[in-house]
Amino acid sequence: MEELAQPDSSNLLRILIVDAREQDGQHLLDALRGGGYDVYARRMCDSEEIAEALRVEDWDIVLLDCAVPDLSAAEAIDLIRPLAPDLPIVLSIAPGCRNVPVELLENGASDLVFKSNPSRLLAIVERECSRLRLLREQQAAPGLPPRVSGIDEGEARFLQLASNTPECYWLVEAETQRVTYVSKGYEQIWGRYVEALYADRRDWLKHVHEEDRASLLRTAQQHRLGGLDAKFRIRRPGGSIRWLHARTFPVHNENGLIVSVGGVASDITSLVTEQGQSPFFAHFDALTALPNQLMFYDQARRLIALAKRKNLPVGVMVVDIDHFREVNQTLGYMSGDELLRQVAGRLSGLLRESDILGRLGGDVFAVLLPDVEDTSQAAIVARRVIDALLQPVRVEGQDIFVTASLGLVFHPQDGNDAHELVSNAEIAVRHAKMNGRNNYQFYSALMHDDVRDRLFLETDLRNAIVHGEFMLYYQAKVSCENGRVTGAEALLRWNHPRRGVVPPDQFIPLLEETGLIIQVGRWVLQEACRQAVIWQQNGLDIPSVSVNLSARQLQSETLLDDIADTLKLSGLAPVCLDLEITESMLMQNPDAAVHMLRELKEMGVTLSLDDFGTGYSSLAYLKRFPLDALKVDRSFVQDIAADADDASITRAVITMAHHLKLKVVAEGVETVEQLALLISHQCDIIQGYYFSRPLGQSAMGELLGADKRLPANLLRSGTRQPMALLVAVDAAEEAISMLERDGHRVCVAADCASATAWLAGNGVDVLVCGPSNGSFDAAAVIRQVAQVQPQCERILLSDERAKSRHQVAELGAAGLLHRVIPLPLATGVLHQTVEEALERRRVIDDYARLSREVEAGGRELLRIEEERRHLLRENEALRETGGQGYLILQELLAHLPWPVIGIDNDGMLALVNEAAHAVFPGRSLLLGASLADVLPEMPLYGDEADIEIAGRRFICRWRQFRPAASVSGRFLLLEEK
Ligand code: C2E
Ligand code: CA
Repeated sequence: MEELAQPDSSNLLRILIVDAREQDGQHLLDALRGGGYDVYARRMCDSEEIAEALRVEDWDIVLLDCAVPDLSAAEAIDLIRPLAPDLPIVLSIAPGCRNVPVELLENGASDLVFKSNPSRLLAIVERECSRLRLLREQQAAPGLPPRVSGIDEGEARFLQLASNTPECYWLVEAETQRVTYVSKGYEQIWGRYVEALYADRRDWLKHVHEEDRASLLRTAQQHRLGGLDAKFRIRRPGGSIRWLHARTFPVHNENGLIVSVGGVASDITSLVTEQGQSPFFAHFDALTALPNQLMFYDQARRLIALAKRKNLPVGVMVVDIDHFREVNQTLGYMSGDELLRQVAGRLSGLLRESDILGRLGGDVFAVLLPDVEDTSQAAIVARRVIDALLQPVRVEGQDIFVTASLGLVFHPQDGNDAHELVSNAEIAVRHAKMNGRNNYQFYSALMHDDVRDRLFLETDLRNAIVHGEFMLYYQAKVSCENGRVTGAEALLRWNHPRRGVVPPDQFIPLLEETGLIIQVGRWVLQEACRQAVIWQQNGLDIPSVSVNLSARQLQSETLLDDIADTLKLSGLAPVCLDLEITESMLMQNPDAAVHMLRELKEMGVTLSLDDFGTGYSSLAYLKRFPLDALKVDRSFVQDIAADADDASITRAVITMAHHLKLKVVAEGVETVEQLALLISHQCDIIQGYYFSRPLGQSAMGELLGADKRLPANLLRSGTRQPMALLVAVDAAEEAISMLERDGHRVCVAADCASATAWLAGNGVDVLVCGPSNGSFDAAAVIRQVAQVQPQCERILLSDERAKSRHQVAELGAAGLLHRVIPLPLATGVLHQTVEEALERRRVIDDYARLSREVEAGGRELLRIEEERRHLLRENEALRETGGQGYLILQELLAHLPWPVIGIDNDGMLALVNEAAHAVFPGRSLLLGASLADVLPEMPLYGDEADIEIAGRRFICRWRQFRPAASVSGRFLLLEEK
């Protein structure tokens, strides 16, 4: 199979398929083409051919089938890795594959996809390809500084600032807003002495142009802790006007607290005047260089006037970046700016020349689309915008995934003038946001009603907090091992005065959007902990209570304190609190999430990954997070009893989770069949309507009081006694009574129908099936048992007839049969075979139970070891960056026009810059000499002095400096008067 596409296409994916079956690979390729890719693929399954293909061609990804004859997946990985170390390898699993090699996810494979359900493939391929691309870019540019994750943000910014040596930079103490440092650039730019600024921190503001002063002051006050980005004019002493661009940023100490705010100001007058004296910044947005709001509306007015005269259509599209606020909050304003710049670049690149793109402000862009007259044309543009954002944006070494919500309108039907059109497009944007973001909506007049409804809902929600209309329901989580309740998940309900009980899906998104979730989430936490303690005090057995966290809560600075306070106030033991976090929340900013989860773990609470399987993160990637349990999403669970593929996905997920030392909780278990299947796949805990719906607080108390449990006959073997089932076995009475006498559990079913009924409600460990005859199909029963209870040992009674022998051979080849008992049946043989099989099961169960116990202990050890390694790595990285920062700082100080002398903590000279050497021409200011010896006239540390040196007067001041956690010292600054 060879698929060719235009070789220069940027959407081209080069896929090496290692698979023996052509049809299977084709199916996966179709899924990729459906996602808009051109695909070039080659399929092969011979080691030499694979090695040759890797040597002579470039590939983006390998799809590796796990059932290639004569080439196991592990062997294939061993073959590929040395030849292409970074190439992503995705395992493809055929339906019914019995042994999914999940261990390979830790040993070289990136992810896995089921051939029967290729829906995950597109996302996996996009993720892996972009990772590979970034890796290749990094390798191609070895000069780039290594990416360091543990570095403190303030320090990084300072280093960045220092290395850029801007014209004027300063530091202000965060708490007092006192100016602690300002560079000489201040004098050049403002034409004022720095002393004036030291004396009066508002000195700089006095000389700002009167038209810009009030707004600048307002913005500066809003950004007291950094994040200011402003352009304004100042009036110099002679009256001349200069344009400045100023930015500020927070500087953190090693504990992450903001201690100072740094600033940079540059003179951009020449840039402004270069734009032909025209007020460039009045029309263009300085950040993105796109037309700003003023200019955009101006262009829109002209275009609409023209369209009216010539009767031409015009479309307007508003593009609003989703969750931009979080980017600013978590990564800082500089990253936010960079993100906007890059998004602007991407948008400009995909529009036609006649389209006009502008920035309306913040994270909102707008596009004028001349000649676009119908929805289908506009939809193409909108789709292109959404696709353009699929690739991550790289900002300060981090990949950020952004999406946008788009609203579209047309002139004249949706608005008569530019303002009306844009405002209606914004309403459509709100709808796109309500529809889950990352989509586009065409405006319709009906949307006004929705927006109004939503405003009412928002008002109601605010009132709900005040009036205490929220309440919690609780849904039990039950152990598959002993059938008892292991905990309860708290689920939020809103008791609306008019609408009745409103389910969370209808209001949680709004709580999130408005930020009210922080307040409500805090209440949920407090209420759930309080209730758990009451139950425990009343003697009810509820080992833990689970609380769902929202993305905003996870990012909130107060979360750790909230949890610590709640635990303290309620008296709930930390181990009794479980926090449920979704995969997408972790993926938004994995580094920050790892950090936060570690802190939470340190408090002693447990962590569960919610809705697992609905996101697209790599399974192996989850290893990074210190989780205790994985909750398999109910969409997986819902079809498992009916659909063999879902069963194999569920089995793979459970195996994988156990491999990662995580417990597995299956959500949404509604039927006994699902339960039986999950239990036989070694699921640890289930939750769902089968056992209990979410209940109000008193009903939940009753459930706990009644000690309700899962039916004992279904429990995971090892906790219940193994069970044998004999189906259509004649003349077995004596063997059965012997087995029962010895304390074994045995059941009988006469035919297929009664076997099916029995299997639906019971777990079986040993199946003995009578021979097929006209009315009984032994193979059907064996197949059914293999599917619903795969751990069961399956035994068939068979005679010597050719037909029977053929059936045995067929079942054996399919791996469905473990043993055959010859007919005619001897009581002793039946008794012994069943007894041995039950005994084997008991030994296996004991072994599994012991391994689980060992695993639980091992999990903790593993965590500690990983933690230790992580800290070591972080430490290493910090030292490296600290050293680098120090070098940059030295370089910077060396070139400063002021005399600067650096002294180490023992009072020895550590740095003397060129300007200082020039001030003391006859002295030998050797590094390592004592300051007191070589420059006795200098003031003692902490003092200031006014000194005359060779006829020049200097003020000498001391500064403490700490450019990195491991480096500190003092500077003596000599400022000429
Ligand atoms: P979730 O965390 O996945 O919660 C489980 C949802 O599945 C609950 O819906 C529960 O009623 C439902 N469920 C449980 N068993 C079954 C079953 O057997 N079949 C079916 N079809 N559904 C079942 P609910 O209570 O409507 O909650 C929906 C979502 O709202 C939750 O999904 C959770 O993401 C969110 N949520 C609920 N309470 C809170 C909260 O306090 N804070 C936050 N941040 N989110 C919450
Ligand atoms: Ca949940």
